[in-house]
Amino acid sequence: RKSTAIITGASSGVGLQAAKALVDKGNWHVIMACRDLIKAEKAAQSVGIPANSYTLMQIDLGSLESVRQFVNNFRATGKTVEALVCNAAIYMPLIKEPLFSPEGYELTVTTNHLGHFLLCNLMLADLQKSPAADKRLVILGTVTHNPDELGGKIPPRPDLGNFEGFAAGFQNPICMINGKEFEPVKAYKDSKVCNVLTMRELHNRFHESTGITFSSLYPGCVATTALFRNHYPLFQKIFPLFQKYITGGFVTEELSGERVAMVVADSEYKQSGIYWSWGNRQKEGRTSFVQKVSPQARDDEKGKRMWDLSYHLVGLG
Ligand code: NDP
Repeated sequence: RKSTAIITGASSGVGLQAAKALVDKGNWHVIMACRDLIKAEKAAQSVGIPANSYTLMQIDLGSLESVRQFVNNFRATGKTVEALVCNAAIYMPLIKEPLFSPEGYELTVTTNHLGHFLLCNLMLADLQKSPAADKRLVILGTVTHNPDELGGKIPPRPDLGNFEGFAAGFQNPICMINGKEFEPVKAYKDSKVCNVLTMRELHNRFHESTGITFSSLYPGCVATTALFRNHYPLFQKIFPLFQKYITGGFVTEELSGERVAMVVADSEYKQSGIYWSWGNRQKEGRTSFVQKVSPQARDDEKGKRMWDLSYHLVGLG
């Protein structure tokens, strides 16, 4: 019997290749949780995922209502789930004004963090229901969450402050987690710090009692994905070349997907509370290592405050 993995944002880039790599392992069925199912179907076919190896299910991470609906729809299938991969994300470096979710929360933080935070909390019960011995919840991180690493030094730096924006209700016109003025690149980085904090809090709170493995990874700089679709066209041309020839950080979408699939399925990655990296300089056959996360992302007090405030914002308590 095959195991089932749910991957959010599997219609392009890292998520699509992760779905393919997982299916290629032979013992996985993938639920591609996507906002645009027509696009997702085309994407699955374009990389040759066999039709009986995947199921498409609708989710819009930028809407908490949609996340709840997804969970209900999943439960109605009667399937069990052995792995959840939180991969979907948006990055909108050029917008001048914030966009908002139907709940009135800034859209980058909602899509990347709050939507996944709600999804993880709801799906914990479903992961627990599966009788499998090895269950995993993987959240995509990124080097840009960490100013201590070379790839994370370019400003603006992430800064959650004391979560003043979350504490004040995070409603328009409040649009940054620290309550300060809107900066779209920082909103992305803040959301990715929250992704790592969420993984660590899930580990602290639930690993021992549930046996679920919680982890994150930086798959390398995947400079060709649609994540950069909202950047200047010239940036989209030059960034992959820069990563390939100057920084050495470039990885292909295929390799990034294989790395995600390894963290989801391979026995050596059955370690909870860990952030995996293959470094910033790619070499043939490079192996992974446990990377120390940023000072904000390893701050347990911040983790607890993030948890309590996010819990409230997504309507769980
Ligand atoms: P892509 O833009 O290629 O893929 C993002 C995916 O998320 C797409 O499938 C997209 O759907 C989906 N998505 C966006 N918004 C929503 C939403 N509201 N609801 C549901 N799905 C949504 O980006 P990448 O593959 O590059 O990024 C994937 C992950 O990898 C992200 O978490 C990112 O932070 C991380 N990452 C990427 C790096 C890189 O260099 N590219 C480096 C480090 C980490 P659609 O197809 O409909 O647009």
